[in-house]
Amino acid sequence: MDAKRPLFDSSPHLPGNTCMPTSAIQKLDSAHYLHPFTDHKHLSEKGARAIVRGEGIYVWDSEGKRLLDGMSGLWCVNVGYGRQSIAEAAYAQMMQLPFYNSFFQTTNLPVVALAAKLVEISPPQFKHVFFAGSGSESNDTNVRMVRRYWDLLGCPDRHVIISRHNAYHGSTMAGASLGGMAGMHAQGGLPIPGIVHIGQPFYLESGRGMTRDEFGLVSASWLEHKILEVGPDKVAAFIGEPIQGAGGVIIPPATYWPEIQRICDKYHILLIADEVICGFGRLGHWFGSECFGIKPDLMTFAKGVTSGYVPLGGVMVGDRVAEVLIEKGGEFNHGFTYSGHPVACAVALENIHLLQKEKLLELVYEETGPYLKQQFEALIQHPLVGEAEAYGFMAGLNLVKEKASHIHDCVLFPSEQNIGMICRSHMLGNGMIMRAVGDRMIIAPPLIMRKENIDEMIELIRFCLDETFIDLKKGGLI
Ligand SMILES: *Cc1c(COP(=O)(O)O)cnc(C)c1O
Repeated sequence: MDAKRPLFDSSPHLPGNTCMPTSAIQKLDSAHYLHPFTDHKHLSEKGARAIVRGEGIYVWDSEGKRLLDGMSGLWCVNVGYGRQSIAEAAYAQMMQLPFYNSFFQTTNLPVVALAAKLVEISPPQFKHVFFAGSGSESNDTNVRMVRRYWDLLGCPDRHVIISRHNAYHGSTMAGASLGGMAGMHAQGGLPIPGIVHIGQPFYLESGRGMTRDEFGLVSASWLEHKILEVGPDKVAAFIGEPIQGAGGVIIPPATYWPEIQRICDKYHILLIADEVICGFGRLGHWFGSECFGIKPDLMTFAKGVTSGYVPLGGVMVGDRVAEVLIEKGGEFNHGFTYSGHPVACAVALENIHLLQKEKLLELVYEETGPYLKQQFEALIQHPLVGEAEAYGFMAGLNLVKEKASHIHDCVLFPSEQNIGMICRSHMLGNGMIMRAVGDRMIIAPPLIMRKENIDEMIELIRFCLDETFIDLKKGGLI
């Protein structure tokens, strides 16, 4: 390598215009970078795809190939790529004050402005915010905060938190324990003590013989069974994503959340909504809880709060908890160096400003969301698709070997055939980023998409499903 050449060019990239050839990037990548959730050996053999630029709903790789980003990065780039005003907000704050801590009775301007803004856009029971650097840290905060809450009320035995199988709540010790991912629990002796799980409200998986609404009540009743099994005076809280994201865009039946709320109320259990994906407009409201008629005591946020431009997370703390923490509290021995980071808060403020100025929530709620639902759910007509459902700007479809009029009567592919991954490769090969969770293909696109972008995306998805179908037919898999 030419020693005088910079490793990468920090000036604005043209599509595919990097200083380094792809092979050199891949070589450095596999030599030194251990990726999250990745089989390092397998990736080294294959070589990572280097993403070098983003604009609007697209990203470009180092080969100049354009990809339509149906996943908003990782459920986070809600306002799309390349937003100059966000970059300017970060720049201005870095020049003014790049960092100062909030530990020792100090505060800063962006953090108080953002806290007030978040309270303004949150449901009325929220007047306080605790900041962290990520969704995982925020859920760790929840574990410590709900246990502290019950301690302060003189109920130290109330420390068990109930979550759900196939939930995702992050990757720290507490986050991964709250989550219900079997693969994560299998490594490192998780879950940590005091965290237990119930089944998920996944109709396709467990709702056979029931209507969706019946199944919603049945799956919510699992919470009551677990509370009685653990002992109602030992349960501190229940946590759930309004719609499970990483688990495969699992949209619960309409009867599910109101029944969960009723059960939490009955046993005085705190309700934590993990809004890391559902928050900041993804479902057409500021928070997913608002779609499902629940009144959580705590809400986790991250991802969309900054549209992923810089890391930031936090917990909206409802009055029930905040009053006890503040009135009876003393010091809560918890916090992070980057709690209330001024640059991250300035970026979040500008991101929220853009969501408001461009009326993106209203659009998703009234226009683009319903349109995406209509177009995406029409994919059910494809011979490979056994089920297709959407809510706001989250959607998922199931690939099946043989279709039937009801999803429970479809013939599924054997899981070892990894059909989802085959489909995903066809998507990527044709410029579409769609994620595979088993044989469920999911999207969560940027909220800036208009009808013509949705048309383009659906057309691309349909084309890639066709390609997958042809491929599977050739391979004798259907
Ligand atoms: C991504 C995610 C998290 C974890 O956030 P990180 O910023 O990756 O720590 C937690 N909860 C949900 C629902 C998520 O999707």
